[in-house]
Amino acid sequence: MSDILEPMTTTEAAGTDLGVAGWTERYSHAVMDTFGPPQRVLVRGEGAYVWDADGRRYLDLLAGIAVNALGHAHPTLTAAISAQLGTLGHVSNFFGTPTQIGLAETLLRLAQAPEGSRVFFANSGTEANEAAFKMTRRVLDADGRPRTRVLALEGGFHGRSMGALALTSKAAYREPFEPLPGGVEFLPFGDTAALEAAFAPAAVAERGPVAALVAEPLQGEAGVRPLPPGYLALARRLTVDAGALLVLDEVQTGMGRTGSWFAFQQPEVGGGVVPDVVTLAKGLGGGFPVGAVVAFGERAAALLGRGQHGTTFGGNPVAAAAALATIGVIERDGVLENVRRVGALLRDEILAAGSPLVREVRGRGLLLAVGLTAPVAADVAARALEAGFIVNPVAPDAIRLAPPLVLTADQAREAAAFFGSLPMPDPTDTPEERR
Ligand SMILES: *Cc1c(COP(=O)(O)O)cnc(C)c1O
Repeated sequence: MSDILEPMTTTEAAGTDLGVAGWTERYSHAVMDTFGPPQRVLVRGEGAYVWDADGRRYLDLLAGIAVNALGHAHPTLTAAISAQLGTLGHVSNFFGTPTQIGLAETLLRLAQAPEGSRVFFANSGTEANEAAFKMTRRVLDADGRPRTRVLALEGGFHGRSMGALALTSKAAYREPFEPLPGGVEFLPFGDTAALEAAFAPAAVAERGPVAALVAEPLQGEAGVRPLPPGYLALARRLTVDAGALLVLDEVQTGMGRTGSWFAFQQPEVGGGVVPDVVTLAKGLGGGFPVGAVVAFGERAAALLGRGQHGTTFGGNPVAAAAALATIGVIERDGVLENVRRVGALLRDEILAAGSPLVREVRGRGLLLAVGLTAPVAADVAARALEAGFIVNPVAPDAIRLAPPLVLTADQAREAAAFFGSLPMPDPTDTPEERR
């Protein structure tokens, strides 16, 4: 085991005789089987490319599921993390640090949050949503008791801890772990009549006042599904009238992924709404684990009082430095503009490549799904890997693309050429459905 205990550079790992097959074998005896066998064992990355233990190179069109905003091993991010770790690596939340404070201020600025807004730091998307869920329990009814009715959307994904899972609609994720925290009602996706009915006097008389509506502006795990225009504006009106919170889960869509800092800021998505709570993680630290809850305005910011929530690692100076560096590069290098330009190019070129298997490309910025004319996404993803592309079969008939935000036009054309090469599937094939 000395090869694990001794510092091992990634290049040395790439040069080991073990290779992908050997590492995969060792994985199967050591790592809990919650994800299935790894598709490859990766040892190194640079920019939008990663290399496996056999030395094969892949164009990473998934970026660790919308995480590696600046690609792999970005020198500015690497230097910022190293410098912070070499200066002050961790303190408890009994203390503040300049990076933590600076990141909170920066997120409030990017979110254009009003006076009185505040940030809570977590370590992941699940934890950010867990904190937001706890905030909803501090919305009180007329008698001063917690409102417990929380609305969420069918197809929504908010994480795997018990609270975040309670907000997540997929039965296969939920059912083995029930009972989950109660009070969550799922509304059909994008259905404005159902939304209005949930706030109507009859529903309130029967089930109580609504504490919050929790939604992704654009559902990621459900296959990159944007909410219909006007939905969030209606949700904002109804929640304001009911004294309920509008909680937007931008764990996947936030931090530039859709071409603006937050998806809700795009007029076509958010319709000019100001939410009460936005949760963030994935791209926030450019690959370093960090999550955040932005509470808009004094009311939302005061829902969790002293002692009502906490975390050891949240707001860790290294995580905060990673996020500040990621945001800094995005601003310095005009990365949001790149997301819009290369995202549009990627979409256009995939459609222009004209595979009979490609039905549509949906999504915004660099969070896209290629809709297929047949339920063969798992086969397409396997074929992509063989051809040197990492993609994600997010639904039986959809491939999700969430590449680094610094993807170049040439790399987008490379990806599009792969999709253009896809033949119509053999109709006698019965592909195995897989996420
Ligand atoms: C990934 C994701 C989460 C969960 O984040 P983790 O960091 O995996 O805990 C929550 N919400 C959305 C929208 C996500 O995409």
